[in-house]
Amino acid sequence: MGRRQAAGNRRGASGTPPEPRGARDAYNFSAGPATLPRPVARRVREEFAAHAGDGASIVEISHKHPRFTGVLDTTVALYRELTGLPEDHHVLFVHGGARMQCAAVPLNLIGRSPTRTAGYVVTGLFAQQAQREGARYGTAVTVAGSEGSGFDRIPEVSVRDCPADAAFLHLTSNNTVYGTRWNDFPRDCPAPLVADATSDILSRRLDHGRFGIVYAGFQKNLGPAGTALVTVRDDLLGHALPETPRLLDYAVHAASKSLDNTPNTFAVFVLSLTLEWIRDQGGLAAVERTNLAKARLLYEELDRTAFYRPTAHPDHRSVTNIVFRLADESLTAEFLERAREEGLLGLAGHRLVGGVRASVYNGMPLEGVRALADFLREFARVRG
Ligand SMILES: *Cc1c(COP(=O)(O)O)cnc(C)c1O
Repeated sequence: MGRRQAAGNRRGASGTPPEPRGARDAYNFSAGPATLPRPVARRVREEFAAHAGDGASIVEISHKHPRFTGVLDTTVALYRELTGLPEDHHVLFVHGGARMQCAAVPLNLIGRSPTRTAGYVVTGLFAQQAQREGARYGTAVTVAGSEGSGFDRIPEVSVRDCPADAAFLHLTSNNTVYGTRWNDFPRDCPAPLVADATSDILSRRLDHGRFGIVYAGFQKNLGPAGTALVTVRDDLLGHALPETPRLLDYAVHAASKSLDNTPNTFAVFVLSLTLEWIRDQGGLAAVERTNLAKARLLYEELDRTAFYRPTAHPDHRSVTNIVFRLADESLTAEFLERAREEGLLGLAGHRLVGGVRASVYNGMPLEGVRALADFLREFARVRG
């Protein structure tokens, strides 16, 4: 321990107060909004430094300005290239983050079902919220769920349990709070699959062709919060309920290339940098390899000793949200405090479940994960 002791008392040049702990050499394991890749954060700073005071940074120009529409076009093209998005899927930027899509999806699709029915696989907090929102517009059937075992796994799903006339089957590809993820998505479902991929988008390859809609709030792997990236298959457009707000109608966003009103230009700009960074790593296959290595380091450390108790079923462990408890729960507060002193921040579990959660999205470098793995071993040695 004591890795950061020297950094704690740094003073600014002119006697300004010391930098807050963690300003440097710190790693932020927050579940979201989450750490940006450091090269992306640097390029954001450069953008603002280059335009300090001239009113012409990317957030200070019209969304119709060629400089911004150029960024937007590049962003969509790079997303298509990196994910291998099929031609007949649109890439949209929609306001309101992921939770707004919990309303937008039924508003756009549920009218395709004569009985206004949709299916939901309920694997955690955000899946429950999606289902609750869907129930405002029709019948939101639980096709499968894992609440009975504390959301510790992805349940078996038989597509025969999905109502025959369902407008869609909604699932959450990675469960941020409970730390589980899907490995095999349902096959041969007659209804289009819809995935909330907020906490694993671009962390691994995802065959978008298997889904009618994939949506993700920005703040975990893409950029700043408040906007969602939505991919939607062309034939699913044009069925929105008449009462759908214009700005939640995916057909409006597709027709206007997400420029019907002012999009979050800053979020799109940051995403463009994030995508370029992924491309420069060697694309999604390379990023996925790194993420698997990061998760393996942590799970190996957790499995080494009974001191820690990872909560997810081993077959469904998330690669982006590593959730565990201390066997002696009375040590959790001390664990978190010592971690903070070591510059390992944002490790408290979600308030619903407590314990510890290390979120290791794309932006978390391998060195940060190594530092956490070392800390896990050392804490277990000293307090075990
Ligand atoms: C974080 C998260 C959300 C919430 O996103 P908002 O942008 O705050 O609405 C929804 N779903 C999943 C899977 C998440 O991880």
